[in-house]
Amino acid sequence: MIMVLFGPPGCGKGTQAGIIAKDIEIPHLSTGDMLRDAVKSKTETGLKAASIMEEGKLVSDEIVINIIKDRICNSDCKNGFILDGFPRTVSQAKELDIMLTTENMKVDLVVDFSVNDEALISRIEGRFSCGDCGEGYNDHTKLPTKEGICDECGSSNFIRRKDDNRATVSKRLEAYYKDTLPILPYYKEKKVLHSIDGLADIDSVTTELMSLIKK
Ligand code: AMP
Repeated sequence: MIMVLFGPPGCGKGTQAGIIAKDIEIPHLSTGDMLRDAVKSKTETGLKAASIMEEGKLVSDEIVINIIKDRICNSDCKNGFILDGFPRTVSQAKELDIMLTTENMKVDLVVDFSVNDEALISRIEGRFSCGDCGEGYNDHTKLPTKEGICDECGSSNFIRRKDDNRATVSKRLEAYYKDTLPILPYYKEKKVLHSIDGLADIDSVTTELMSLIKK
C-alpha cells in the first residue's frame, strides 16, 4: 500500500500517518521530519533548507525528490509506505510516479484532509511534541494524560517547532494554496483521491482512513 496523506499544514496528517503506520506496519515518511533531522545534523541539505523552512517557503523540488528517492529504496519500504508532506508540487507528484513505475509500484490511495484556515492556525499554534520519542500533542486536542509527562516514554522534554507561529503559518498556507493544492486534479484523474473531514476527532479520522485502506 502506497498512500499519500494530503492537506495543509496542521490538518492532522502527521498524527494520522503515525497511527496508521504503526497499525499496518509500514513506514511513515515525512519530508518535514527528514528535513528537520538534516537541519539538526547540519548536513549539506540541512544547511540549504534551514532558512527556507524558517520562512515557511518550500524547499526545492530537487532536494526533496532526492531525499525521497534515497529513502524508498530501503528494504523497509518494500511493502509500501505512507507519505506525509510529499508530494507538495505537481513536479514532485510526477517525479514520484516515475520513481514508482521503475519499481513496478504506484500510488494506491491519496487522502485529502479538508480543514478551514482559522482551525488550522489554532491547531498549529497549539501543537508540541516529546523531544525524546517524538509523540505529538496539542494544547487544544491532545494533552499528555499526566501534565508535563510524555504518555509514551515518560520524558518531560517537550518541544515546539520553530515554524509553528502565526506569521510563518500564513506563509506555509500561502505556499500550500499556490503550489500544493494544484496537485489534487492530478490524483483525481488517476481515480485514487478521497476526501475526509480533517476536523473530526482523531479516532474518527483513523477509523475512516482504515476503512479506505481496507477497500
Ligand atoms: P512539514 O513538517 O511537512 O510541515 O514541513 C516543514 C517544512 O519543510 C515546510 O514548510 C517546507 O519548508 C519543508 N518541506 C517539507 N516537505 C516538503 C516538500 N515535499 N517540498 C518542499 N518543501 C518541503
